[in-house]
Amino acid sequence: MPALPQAFIDTLTGLPGYDAAAFLAVHQSPERITSVRLQPQKVQDVASVFPQLETTRVPWASGGYYLSTRPSFTFDPQFHAGAYYVQEASSMFLEEALRQTISAAAPLKALDLCAAPGGKSTLIQAALPAGSFLVSNEVIRPRAALLADNLSRWGTTDVVVTNNDPRDFSRLEGFFDLMVVDAPCSGSGLFRRDPEAVNEWSYDNVMLCSQRQQRILADALPSLKPGGVLIYSTCSYAREEDEQLLDWLMDHEQLVSLPLQLQPEWNIVATESPVHRAFGYRFYPDKVKGEGFFIACFRKAGEAVPPKKGKQKFTELPKKDAERVLPWLKPGADVRMMLHEGEVLLLSPAVAEDMPLLQQLYIRKAGVKAGQLTGKELIPDHQLALSTVISQDLPGVELTLEDALHYLRREDLRLGEPLKGWALMRFRGMNLGWAKILPNRVNNYYPKEMRILKSGMPET
Ligand code: SAM
Repeated sequence: MPALPQAFIDTLTGLPGYDAAAFLAVHQSPERITSVRLQPQKVQDVASVFPQLETTRVPWASGGYYLSTRPSFTFDPQFHAGAYYVQEASSMFLEEALRQTISAAAPLKALDLCAAPGGKSTLIQAALPAGSFLVSNEVIRPRAALLADNLSRWGTTDVVVTNNDPRDFSRLEGFFDLMVVDAPCSGSGLFRRDPEAVNEWSYDNVMLCSQRQQRILADALPSLKPGGVLIYSTCSYAREEDEQLLDWLMDHEQLVSLPLQLQPEWNIVATESPVHRAFGYRFYPDKVKGEGFFIACFRKAGEAVPPKKGKQKFTELPKKDAERVLPWLKPGADVRMMLHEGEVLLLSPAVAEDMPLLQQLYIRKAGVKAGQLTGKELIPDHQLALSTVISQDLPGVELTLEDALHYLRREDLRLGEPLKGWALMRFRGMNLGWAKILPNRVNNYYPKEMRILKSGMPET
């Protein structure tokens, strides 16, 4: 990687826990860390997904594992099936922060405000108490599309993906119990993983990022309920984006800073903001097995006001139609079926309940799209294939690795199966998507925009 700019190194001097020699050495080392988090509703055992690799636990995240080498995720059909999410290990600490700050006793309404590509959202979804839901928002349109694809792979009915500016959330005053702001930042914590970013670093950009972070927080915070929890994080080492930002928050919002308990062997550095002594936590790559990261937690003070209810634009699916969808679902799946622009949506009861309010946002994806009901049949959607509520008894074909990659590239398939009609294409028992088997050909329904474009095969 390129040498770290001296102007950047100078800004680190005096930071809590900064050890110049170790920090510079780790940035010169060729070691790269790979970690993944399993989708617990699809996979319980890491060895079933990576039988050839050595794996070790990420200490603060259930389902988080370091891999001994980096496989080609593009060529792993299980990645496309949503068996796991590839996520940097320090940022998985969000799970521990949630464990220590939210109550597991009651369902929550959560917002991940700066969510693309979706690492934190998949983590939050898995960590929330049963009956909760998550609004996963991204302001930049193409990134919101990527976020929706990643959450389709994750496959749960309790996430709504939106594409809104933070200021739009003022329409939902006092609505959320939890707000995660993983803010856009100057990105110095990821220099090791993304050497290109080194050349883009400048102090001016740090200051721009800090101002943007203030704006984002000020715009979004009205939608956090008094008593609710705010978690702020960056992947920057800059004081202006970390400790000083916490002071700015304490000056401008009614917040109480929340401390976290750390295990000494985690090597996470506890820090405090200079004025209000707000608690923050720094992750250095020479101290933890992960990249640079910063996180802080707050509780909003004040009295809760019940938010208003809007008028439902999503209509409940008539019973006779719902009966046609039921055979596609796991017996007893706890979903509400709603109709929106001709599509059947499967929503967790909590999402369905709050849809009248959530529909004030620009929704990219709500729960899981089951498909379209025509006169004769349900044309199943890709989201249904990857969902955690799909029936396990539908017709399916187990593919070889080679055929799975043909399928994921949307190429023609030849299957020697005596099936007819809609069939799930599977790899190691995991659904990849749909194909329609006709007497003389197989139609590949893998979504064009999600297909693998890279040619080649995985190295064995
Ligand atoms: N939370 C994500 C994850 O774990 O996968 C990473 C989020 S990244 C650090 C910050 C995100 O904020 C980016 O997706 C970026 O597009 C978005 N962003 C950029 N400018 C923004 C703004 N003005 N308001 C809100 N979000 C913004």
